[in-house]
Amino acid sequence: MRITCVGGGPAGLYFAVLAKLADPSREITVLERDPAGVTYGWGVVFWDDLLDDLFRYDPVSAARIWDAAHKWDEYEVRAAGKPVTHLGGYGFSLGRHRLLEILGERARELGVEIRYSDELTDPAQLPPADLTVACDGAGSRLRDQHAEHFGAQVETGRNKYIWLGTPHVFRTFTFGFERTEAGWIWFHAYPFTDRASTFIVECTPETWAGLGLDRMDSAAGNARLQQIFARHLDGAPLDDAGRGWLNFRRVTAERWDHGTVVLMGDAAHTTHFAIGSGTKLAMQDAMALADAIALSPLALPAALEQYEHRRKVALAPLQRAAYASSAWFERMPEYAELPARRFSYALSNRRGEYPAWRYLLHMTTQSAVPRTMLRWTLSARRWHRARRRPARHLTAAVP
Ligand SMILES: Cc1cc2nc3c(=O)[nH]c(=O)nc-3n(C[C@H](O)[C@H](O)[C@H](O)COP(=O)(O)OP(=O)(O)OC[C@H]3O[C@@H](n4cnc5c(N)ncnc54)[C@H](O)[C@@H]3O)c2cc1C
Repeated sequence: MRITCVGGGPAGLYFAVLAKLADPSREITVLERDPAGVTYGWGVVFWDDLLDDLFRYDPVSAARIWDAAHKWDEYEVRAAGKPVTHLGGYGFSLGRHRLLEILGERARELGVEIRYSDELTDPAQLPPADLTVACDGAGSRLRDQHAEHFGAQVETGRNKYIWLGTPHVFRTFTFGFERTEAGWIWFHAYPFTDRASTFIVECTPETWAGLGLDRMDSAAGNARLQQIFARHLDGAPLDDAGRGWLNFRRVTAERWDHGTVVLMGDAAHTTHFAIGSGTKLAMQDAMALADAIALSPLALPAALEQYEHRRKVALAPLQRAAYASSAWFERMPEYAELPARRFSYALSNRRGEYPAWRYLLHMTTQSAVPRTMLRWTLSARRWHRARRRPARHLTAAVP
């Protein structure tokens, strides 16, 4: 079987690794437009669920990712004019460059051919293959060529954002909100090595234009942001790696396959960075496609349909969460006047997932008196329920 992956991002490289591992006789080529070692962006975050999957599918690359990953504990919320608050949770982060280096190295070890600096400009010139994986990112040329067939839609988010890096090492995942003369502007920052952090800045288009960021070149814009966020950066510079300010593009596609071409990762669906899951989902797409072609090697259309169905079901809840989360940030100025703890609760519940008791719990975690009252209430409820609930062995005996 000959497979071509167009795009050497996390989706394309990881799929190449898994497809080759499953059957070393496959001829697999990855076309990547950037030179080796060059990519966009900074560190990305992920959680245990991805690590578990990675160790199940390829323990070798998983161990390298684990070794390279940076662990952070809790979220810190710094909003101008309010005391700093802390939210529970932990996660991992890794530079996108390092992730692609690990995956590229693993793919080459297994015999995958990676052609760097090889941009597919005309889809008619695709090398002949039994399966072509369009994993060429949110702006996928292969998807756009058959946009009508794929039922592809691209919605543009309202807020402006810029993906920056800084040598300032944040202690943990940090949200910082600053009030300027033109409105609120904020960052999502986290360390991804002992020497650098990701620093994503976001604001409404009104604030962006009001601060003059729409008229500044990269150096002047970064200097302005450094000034606005000076108390968080300790004088460290910001670097935008040349991509500039963007609006998030929400990509959806009704169908993911067209003959022997199949969409994967951001080419099929994007997930707002406010929930940090696009890389995970792209790699989980790769796992699902590798499984599908292993199960039905003789019937590619059935395999592709199975892949699409499995992934759409898995994606739906996260995409709803991502949508709610991005909408929260678009309305952020409406929450700005809330007191610190209510503000950080609203931020942590931006996906709209928590029931009311989580709010109560959140509001009580930082002060001793309500915490004790909550403990008493919970033990009283437990005692009351225990008196009403029939003993477990008696319930089990009822047919
Ligand atoms: C600001 C920001 C922060 C993010 N943070 C996180 C995070 O913390 N955690 C997380 O999980 N996700 C995060 N993401 C999302 C994540 O970056 C993407 O979802 C992920 O990279 C998708 O992987 P992919 O392989 O599908 O696409 P990409 O990573 O975009 O890879 C596509 C590749 O295809 C290549 N290519 C494109 N066109 C061609 C062509 N014609 N010929 C040859 N090659 C081509 C590109 O050069 C690129 O290397 C973030 C995204 C943004 C914008």
